[in-house]
Amino acid sequence: MVEVVQQISCPGCGAPVKVVPGEIIITCEYCGSDMKLGEKFFLNHSIIPGKYQKEDVVKIVKKWMRVGFYKPDDLAKRSIIKSAECIFLPFFIAHIESLTKYSGFFTRTGENTPRNGELKKEYFWKVLGRRGSKFPTKEYHIPLSGKTQFNIIHISKNAKFLNSEIDEKEAENIAKQEAGMHQKHLLEDTVDVFSSLDTGCKIIDTELVHAPVWFIEYNYKGRVYKMLVDGVSGETIKADIPLPDTSFKGFFKEMKRGLFSRG
Ligand SMILES: [Zn+2]
Repeated sequence: MVEVVQQISCPGCGAPVKVVPGEIIITCEYCGSDMKLGEKFFLNHSIIPGKYQKEDVVKIVKKWMRVGFYKPDDLAKRSIIKSAECIFLPFFIAHIESLTKYSGFFTRTGENTPRNGELKKEYFWKVLGRRGSKFPTKEYHIPLSGKTQFNIIHISKNAKFLNSEIDEKEAENIAKQEAGMHQKHLLEDTVDVFSSLDTGCKIIDTELVHAPVWFIEYNYKGRVYKMLVDGVSGETIKADIPLPDTSFKGFFKEMKRGLFSRG
């Protein structure tokens, strides 16, 4: 299959803009205009400037390796950081109001106690604008307090920038669906069997935010592990941790260390 890369002109500044197949909302790398397949597009678009350089991130990772009792003791010493790359990821934040009307029974006590009512909640639901990505969106607390009007000057040097592969309508539908599932999940605390469940979601507004995340790969005893670090708070979003050495040799080493450290 031939990959067709379309070229369009930016409606903001006229510069040529490359369209990578699959990307729908494209940001002009010259003037920062957003466009949806060639048209100027008025979505509330912001960016969260990153706070770290690669050297800082390497220090953060090394520090993370040194603390935590569930990690191998020599993790910091024996690990080699293979790569650390900052990527500005596109997230839609849908401000939603969800109303679930339900009826059913609470049965876990052995009796059928009727339960019915309404659950109304407001959410700022996050949807990653990339397809087929295993990014842990739920675990990531987007540092929204640092956001500012989108401007390409805020993309750190050497950082990668990813356009969105879905548009805001699709993001809103995903957000509605996920928020509805979440509402049901909350209700399962008090309702065991539902006889009816109906969720309506209203979108108040949706914005697009580009946030910096560091993708790190490190090598420990011949294996590669991955780690994600928030480019603003420096906190670990998710990290692979090597298993402790559970072999007999490893056990023996642990024992010896225990004896000696008692000093
Ligand atoms: Zn432009």
